[in-house]
Amino acid sequence: MPISTVIAPGELRELTQKWRKEGKKLAFVPTMGALHAGHISLVEEARKRADIVIVSIFVNPMQFGPNEDFGSYPRMLVQDIARLEASHVDVLFAPNAADMYPEGFQTVVSNSEMSDILCGRFRPGHFSGVLTVVNKLFNLVQPNYAIFGKKDYQQFTLISKMVKDLCMDLEVIGHPTLRESDGLAMSSRNLRLSPQEREEAAQIHRAMQSVAAVHKKGEVDREKLEHQFQDELAKVPGFRFEYAEIREQGTLNAFGKTIDKPAVILVAAHLGSVRLIDNLEFG
Ligand code: AMP
Repeated sequence: MPISTVIAPGELRELTQKWRKEGKKLAFVPTMGALHAGHISLVEEARKRADIVIVSIFVNPMQFGPNEDFGSYPRMLVQDIARLEASHVDVLFAPNAADMYPEGFQTVVSNSEMSDILCGRFRPGHFSGVLTVVNKLFNLVQPNYAIFGKKDYQQFTLISKMVKDLCMDLEVIGHPTLRESDGLAMSSRNLRLSPQEREEAAQIHRAMQSVAAVHKKGEVDREKLEHQFQDELAKVPGFRFEYAEIREQGTLNAFGKTIDKPAVILVAAHLGSVRLIDNLEFG
């Protein structure tokens, strides 16, 4: 059946209200489009949990800085619609920026602790943009479940915290990262890597795996493990690091000298003009 595409926020609200009145469970997958198998794995998770699956595609201007890739972010709505149809999504919400941020828009959602670390340190305002748009989307859809990828670990953690802190009535589900056969995390931005960069990019996952392996053998010194990771990637000429840090799973609290709780290594690096992020839970 052809997927129905809704552009007007009011129309989406009417649809989801009707489904809720009928007693249907709703699962929601927010995206920025240029869909790949990672996104579709979230859709499949949504389908397992609910009667109705709603996907949004919105390249949210509020979460891009002035020198970031808002203009060049891949947009391919026709292919995306075909993929969503093949995955039996019930409705695609693809709003316009003017409808999401009408003139006079003033209210934002922010987190006082976790938005300035890791990606937030390099992308000021980014997570306010994310939390604000996700909050708006949640209010329009009012889903029972919202599915997010752990690929964007900090985003997933911040959204889970927002839902808890603001007593929102839905469950946030974190879904594992889908990877290419060489370990590179699937990402819409991979489309912009040159063939050589694409090959080099797989080193990120290899270096994270070797950190996890060395930790498993007994190394608990945080700095040593972080340096091991950085040294391994420094061998690849194209990489320019933003950060590579080991933090506590779930809270993203910093470790002192010793890794004594379940951990996650998080990395952001530029390869050519493309900014890649990835992470791996271990311990
Ligand atoms: P994006 O379109 O990049 O905003 O991503 C939309 C959702 O898909 C987010 O929850 C991402 O974390 C998730 N996602 C992106 N890449 C992957 C991946 N490789 N595996 C699983 N989920 C992903």
